Amino acid sequence: MSKVHNFSAGPCILPPEVLKEAAEAVVNFDNLNLSLLEISHRSKNFVAVMDEAVALVRELMDVPDNYTPIFIQGGASLGFIISALNMRGKHGKAAYTNTGTWANNAIKEAKQFLNVVEIASSKDANFNYIPKGYTIPSDVDYFHFTSNNTIFGTQVKDMPKTSVPLVCDMSSDILSRKVNVADFDLIYAGAQKNMGPAGATLYIVKNDVFANSQKPIPSYLDLSIHADKESMFNTPPVYSVYVCMLTLRWLKKNGGVSWIEGVNQAKADCIYNEIDRNPLFEGTAAKEDRSNMNACFKLKDEKYQEQFDAIWKAAGVSGIKGHRSVGGYRASMYNALPLESVQVLANCMKELEKNV
Ligand SMILES: *Cc1c(COP(=O)(O)O)cnc(C)c1O
Repeated sequence: MSKVHNFSAGPCILPPEVLKEAAEAVVNFDNLNLSLLEISHRSKNFVAVMDEAVALVRELMDVPDNYTPIFIQGGASLGFIISALNMRGKHGKAAYTNTGTWANNAIKEAKQFLNVVEIASSKDANFNYIPKGYTIPSDVDYFHFTSNNTIFGTQVKDMPKTSVPLVCDMSSDILSRKVNVADFDLIYAGAQKNMGPAGATLYIVKNDVFANSQKPIPSYLDLSIHADKESMFNTPPVYSVYVCMLTLRWLKKNGGVSWIEGVNQAKADCIYNEIDRNPLFEGTAAKEDRSNMNACFKLKDEKYQEQFDAIWKAAGVSGIKGHRSVGGYRASMYNALPLESVQVLANCMKELEKNV
């Protein structure tokens, strides 16, 4: 089989050695002669998987002791609801920035439970930049933002500094760069971009949150219950947690977050240098806010589309069609994508230039 360069936006590429080990565990896990899929989540073999996944999150992200990592189901879309319900406090009010589809969905959900103030938005320019210079009101229970806007290819470079509790949807750039967890009260992320397959969602919660939230909260949506039960309140997404654990092991073995941050910067430099150099292409996001995870770009003249598509398809590039709300192309360059794949794509862009 010829090599495929997988730029899928999510679910997305995983390290080949992780996929191999994950495949073996489907047939025979831990030499039990049983599949990981057919053992109890309360067996000591699976409890060890969950414990290691949580320990690796703590280690790789330098999570302080007064925080609890939790793996549950529901994706980041349930995270929009869970974050609002657990962060809701005495003000019944929250501040959000609207930086794209996912931020907008988070706002929509929070509005069901709280008075939401949208303190900044980049909707006026189809979300092609990150708003700056906004003021976070002090009479809110929390401030919510999206660190990386997967669809529009923008990324918050300087994390907001505020005395208000800080909540972040980090779904598409968690573990891709160093983050100071102590600055946040709640971080959540669907696994299927940088951490593993779909099915598991990671929450990293400051323990103060458990006491400060306004009850009642339905049990499954209550993070304090999941923390008490060590992510075993009900059946966790066992396979997804297992593959996340393998992916976290892979990251640690290779040098952790500081290593991958360097690799991700090299990949981003490679694609953006070509987008800026090549007269046939242009980037769609403001330069200073460009995402190191999702590079969005288009042809200046659409008449070359067929020719360009034929070139990258022949080179084994896959998954670079842009989201329908932006058009053009989107190269998603999550942790597991090697620099070599980005070089192949940049060479396809050079080849088009030579041919026209
Ligand atoms: C993909 C994504 C989501 C949605 O995740 P689901 O797990 O499908 O609910 C939310 N936020 C961001 C930033 C994303 O990239």
